[in-house]
Amino acid sequence: MIQDAFDGILGQPQVRDYLRSALTADRITHAYLFTGPSGSNKTQAAFAFAQALICPKGAKGPRGGACGDCNGCSRAKRRVHPDVRFYAPEGASAYLVEQIRDIVADVSLAPIQAKRKIYILDRADLMNVSAANAFLKTLEEPPPNVVFILLGRTRESVLPTIASRCQTVPFRHIPPTEAAGIVSQNTGADAALSRVAIEACSGSITRAIGFIREKGNARIHFRQELMARLSRLDRMDDWQVLQLARTLVEGSKALVDQVRVSLEAELEENRDLFERSVIRQIEARNKRQLSLKTSEYLHQCVAILKSWLRDVMAVAAGTPELIINEDFRADIVRVGGGLSVARLGAALRRMEEAEGALDYNVSPETCLDAILFQMREVLNGPGHPCEPSL
Ligand SMILES: [Zn+2]
Repeated sequence: MIQDAFDGILGQPQVRDYLRSALTADRITHAYLFTGPSGSNKTQAAFAFAQALICPKGAKGPRGGACGDCNGCSRAKRRVHPDVRFYAPEGASAYLVEQIRDIVADVSLAPIQAKRKIYILDRADLMNVSAANAFLKTLEEPPPNVVFILLGRTRESVLPTIASRCQTVPFRHIPPTEAAGIVSQNTGADAALSRVAIEACSGSITRAIGFIREKGNARIHFRQELMARLSRLDRMDDWQVLQLARTLVEGSKALVDQVRVSLEAELEENRDLFERSVIRQIEARNKRQLSLKTSEYLHQCVAILKSWLRDVMAVAAGTPELIINEDFRADIVRVGGGLSVARLGAALRRMEEAEGALDYNVSPETCLDAILFQMREVLNGPGHPCEPSL
């Protein structure tokens, strides 16, 4: 079956049909705002739309969308097309004004390979008033060959001055069981593994597919190892807990090294196409991508920890049929029997707070230490020496 770019928009049929017909009817506007909860596939849809917009066969390709297999499509699909740019906030919790000025300056340059330039801006809800002010004029009247795709959680979370200049495209929340079904369809993995992958990736279909397809099943093995260790967490001494946290952090460093190699290879592939100033920008972007990867990996660790603890909680609540990590059922049932649901719930909330700290440059090791010690404490039940009063 021929796959066009829009077939890559999974779980969002309305969005897919809307964007496909906008392209075939040649009704492309210069700015879109994709809104939807995390895990609703906005980023992936933005890259798919970008691919359709830059494919030289355009609306005349098969099935009225982009062709999916020319050089432009292939680069866009691998997210290395020089005319498809992706930005995320560089500040701890917001876009920096300088970053927006860089984007604005870049917009006025001609495209490198395609007829259009596409700018994907993640977390448009993190654009504050001063960043927005630096952006408004360009967002309102960009050069005719530029398309902006802004991503945000809700329309209301984005400044009205920004939202009112964009065509809103709402994404729906995809329930986990449906998301797992889509993952299963796209990877051939069975239902249980697909559900586990969705859990480990905090509901994101795209990341769950990557989780399953990763070379050598690296992620799948990583999850299994982590789960096996968690089965022993209640009996670990302090040193073993610290060691587990350290192993997780080292895993992130290994992953980042891997990603660094592939980013450098991509830069080489495009180097002859770019001016020196653009190469500097790409190098800066790569650096940001590395820190994004680290944070993604750490969040994945925490997602796996949380998923395990939720299963333990299901056992404690007398609903073991809700266990998601089926392959560790026996251990989870052993650990969860007789624990207090309220205490587990409180631990889960504290974990979420600690996880939030990961995004604010707190040392990941400190965060994971805190999370694992909290987990062990609640697993050991009342009467543990470090018992806090709840
Ligand atoms: Zn193409």
